[in-house]
Amino acid sequence: MRTHAAPLRIYWLALKRGLVQAEGHGLHVALSEETVLEWFKLLRLPPYQAAYPVRPMGSACPECPPREGNGGEVTTERTFPEGRKMACLLCRSCWLELEPTSQMGRGSDAPVGRR
Ligand SMILES: [Zn+2]
Repeated sequence: MRTHAAPLRIYWLALKRGLVQAEGHGLHVALSEETVLEWFKLLRLPPYQAAYPVRPMGSACPECPPREGNGGEVTTERTFPEGRKMACLLCRSCWLELEPTSQMGRGSDAPVGRR
């Protein structure tokens, strides 16, 4: 019973706040601390607002020397409504690239260059 108590409490809180699905009244939550912290970093929520640097769209890796063509081997690690998290396949450094509309109205995290 002990293993069921916490999920039932969470369900009850979600139900009271109207957060369960309308159809079937389901609630599907599977979050690890690591996942939550990563989302805080992606969405730049305090105190993790500076966890990843913000760089212009289409940036090359800032750590690796430029290669022929488009710079370092960069991959999109994750996308989210405001932008995407990019990672260098060589040195594993990561940064955020934000959609232009999400860059307005933010002061401290405004990316350098690119207007
Ligand atoms: Zn790199």
